Amino acid sequence: MQSGQQLIDQARSVARSLGALYINGAQVDSQLESTIASVDPSSGEVWATVQAGGPDDINRAVESAHRCFENDWGKRSPADRERVLRRFVDLLAENADLLATIDSIDSGVVLSFLRTAGTGLLLDTVEYFSGWPTKLAGQNFAPTQFPNVPGRTTQLTTVFEPVGVVGAILPWNAPSTFALTKGIPALAAGCTVVVKPAEQTPLSALFIADLFTQAGLPNGAYNVVNGAGDVAGASLVKHPLVKKITFTGSTEVGRIIATDGGRDFKRMTLELGGKSAFVVMDDAQLELAAFAANYAGYFLNGQFCMCPSRLFVERSVRDAFVGMLQGMASNMKVGPSYADDSTMGPLITRHDQHRVAGVVSKAQSDGAELLYGGSIIDGPGYTFEPTLLAVEDQSIAIAQDETFGPVLGLTTFDKNDMDSLMRNANGVRYGLAASVWTSDLKTGHSLASSLQAGVVSVNDHATTSAMFPFGGVKDSGIGREFGRDGFESFFEKKSIAINY
Ligand code: ADP
Repeated sequence: MQSGQQLIDQARSVARSLGALYINGAQVDSQLESTIASVDPSSGEVWATVQAGGPDDINRAVESAHRCFENDWGKRSPADRERVLRRFVDLLAENADLLATIDSIDSGVVLSFLRTAGTGLLLDTVEYFSGWPTKLAGQNFAPTQFPNVPGRTTQLTTVFEPVGVVGAILPWNAPSTFALTKGIPALAAGCTVVVKPAEQTPLSALFIADLFTQAGLPNGAYNVVNGAGDVAGASLVKHPLVKKITFTGSTEVGRIIATDGGRDFKRMTLELGGKSAFVVMDDAQLELAAFAANYAGYFLNGQFCMCPSRLFVERSVRDAFVGMLQGMASNMKVGPSYADDSTMGPLITRHDQHRVAGVVSKAQSDGAELLYGGSIIDGPGYTFEPTLLAVEDQSIAIAQDETFGPVLGLTTFDKNDMDSLMRNANGVRYGLAASVWTSDLKTGHSLASSLQAGVVSVNDHATTSAMFPFGGVKDSGIGREFGRDGFESFFEKKSIAINY
């Protein structure tokens, strides 16, 4: 096993070789005279520079994806697609540590986490989807007679047809994961892909594109164009040959994409912001709940769409729960993402570090009480303390808006007033994840059905698995990723009636 320092050296050398766009199976130069400097948020230094593409580059990439879909990948048999994707899985496993290191430097997510749990989820997901092509089948209905064709029998059947070229627009908080959890099901379905990574994390998708080529994916099936969201991203969304957009990011950008892509009725999967409720009943296993709140709360340095940013805790266990969270937060080591002892890394930009500090001080002036942390940690990296606030007024910004930083708000409730609890828990515009902590399964079931969220867990939070549909309701988005639903979202279902 390579040491952290060897991997960092290797990642730096690979990053130097990855500056161009990746179109039609090769690195090509952008037609814009523009670059993106990728900053390592642990040091504040530029560690890589890549070319930024514009509308002409998007057009080249989409046309190449379209050709490949029409003439090659879209015509391959399911077994053939599986064979290529399985070769890719092997290459991914061989390169997983290096990819984790590239992502850790680029995004500030802790390397030890990415090399273990992060890689595990990534490989599970890629293996899961690469097995789907030979398993998906349409339906046959019982032979039927229709009055418009008397005396004849009609066989009704449905078939799945891949949508065509998919535009995948990625966020920066889990770059490889998103490049693949969007790319792999699309390719498994027979679609071809143009990826637009986030400006902050442009590297791993380029590395992945090259692995696909090594695995034997035909040229043009997986293309990567870095660039500005409102330039390259917007061109991708508006391109007439792109049939589906899969996007993860902010609700605000999701709304722009829904409008731009909605003009020609593109298929869309939009995974947007969240403000997850985490409900702790008095009969919960408190240590377990506190561990999970701490883990999910500061996971990805708090920049996590399913962050349990609203902790609702029953009054009789409130003080004990707060004490546990304070103890766990005080044991966290915030530092460079790739330092061996770091348990939390920096925020993505200096701007975000100051933005989060502003959110915390506004919360305090709105009446929230600081229970732990709350400050910027001085240094070259963009670090911020794990932070816990007591929030009673549910109308203030900290109770309503997504923070996207390591800040949890804790509200007390009484178990004899469950109506107020549910009103508050559901009283936000988001609906991505929620959880309930209780030893009573009846309570768990009942609250799980009442909570407005796409994913509700009982005695877990943000449960994620390749086979488990994931997505939001309300302003958290539309569509589902993962599982059979995620795979089917890359197809049109055609109904065929054959009269004989
Ligand atoms: P965050 O707030 O987490 O930085 P954003 O929602 O701003 O996330 O961005 C997520 C992704 O959407 C990025 O790849 C970004 O470049 C892209 N993006 C931003 N604006 C647009 C747009 N108008 N059209 C398409 N993509 C966009």
